[in-house]
Amino acid sequence: MPTSGKADEAQPRPKSSATPIESEEISLIEYRCQSCNAAYPLGADDVIATCPYCGYTFEVDTGKTLKHSMIPNRLAVQEASEVVRNWIASVAARSVGSHVAKAVDIETPMLQWLPMIRVDADCRTHYSGGKKTQTGVASAYWTKIENETTSHEPIWVLARRHASDFGVEEFVDSIGDAESVTFDIKAIQSALLLNSELEETDAQPRARVNKVLKDRNTLLRTMTSLFDYQLEMNFKSCSYIHAPYWLVPYTYHNGTFRVALSGVTGQVLCAEVPVTKRYKASQWLKSLGLLISSALLFLSLPIATFFILQFASGSSGEAILLPLIILFGAAVLWAESVKTLGRVLRYQITMTADGKSREKGDSLKESLKIIAEVSS
Ligand SMILES: [Zn+2]
Repeated sequence: MPTSGKADEAQPRPKSSATPIESEEISLIEYRCQSCNAAYPLGADDVIATCPYCGYTFEVDTGKTLKHSMIPNRLAVQEASEVVRNWIASVAARSVGSHVAKAVDIETPMLQWLPMIRVDADCRTHYSGGKKTQTGVASAYWTKIENETTSHEPIWVLARRHASDFGVEEFVDSIGDAESVTFDIKAIQSALLLNSELEETDAQPRARVNKVLKDRNTLLRTMTSLFDYQLEMNFKSCSYIHAPYWLVPYTYHNGTFRVALSGVTGQVLCAEVPVTKRYKASQWLKSLGLLISSALLFLSLPIATFFILQFASGSSGEAILLPLIILFGAAVLWAESVKTLGRVLRYQITMTADGKSREKGDSLKESLKIIAEVSS
């Protein structure tokens, strides 16, 4: 979380209704609760605030009281530790070795309540795309997929401006259509309660972006290319809801790592794991394989060019593309080999809940897809 807001997006501070006292730190403002009179600090970017003592929730700018609910937390501290222990032993151990599970020391899990805005909207989408059904040497067959859908589903928006927290993207996905209950400060269990940095109306454009990205990802699992996608959203309501997110630190050989859990589902969201000797060995091998493939492709380049010049001079100009494709493919494999090697040099990697290495835009698959598209 940022500790200081940028000057250009400075918000007007609480007005007459509140009695703000600027504290030494510019980012925090001492505030006195309208309901129970307890003093507590407000963050400089907080837009909707909740009293950590009585649960009184209000809009900072207007002082207006806000209706507010929460999604129950399914994990106790002990259970959170167990979930992490089991995950390391069963999932992480597959790539880093089972000796890791025996040597980890799980520290006290920390519960945080993240502010979410649930946006309810009627959504109509129209999309068209294509699925490559058979790839031959000379031709490919495409099936056109076109559809219209209507749905009414909750879309969750994290009500923080800078959402770089570990596993938060996965956390938002984990909420789904979980039931919420009336907010009760006792159920917070004195865990950290984060305030909203977004107004409910600010959440609408974000909800739209979330919906488009989610649909795109889902559609691209069933088709090769998405040609057109249109979304019509009719916003119905927004509600302010706190949801339970866990961060569990653990140590292994003097290093500290983190596992993020969803208190909504009780499951692991993602985790940092140490790069062990076993993991290094597997990545070395993979990198070497990629490097050899890349070298072989480079070597084939003069031969391919020679044959094209010899025999294809009279035929279509497309043949001349082949050396370029080979060159591109070789370069991609080489880059991937270097990247794989880079993982060995790292001290830790981030894994998804099912034990895959989590890197934004899995580049090898993406790149191979591009090659396939260019060459077909
Ligand atoms: Zn209060």
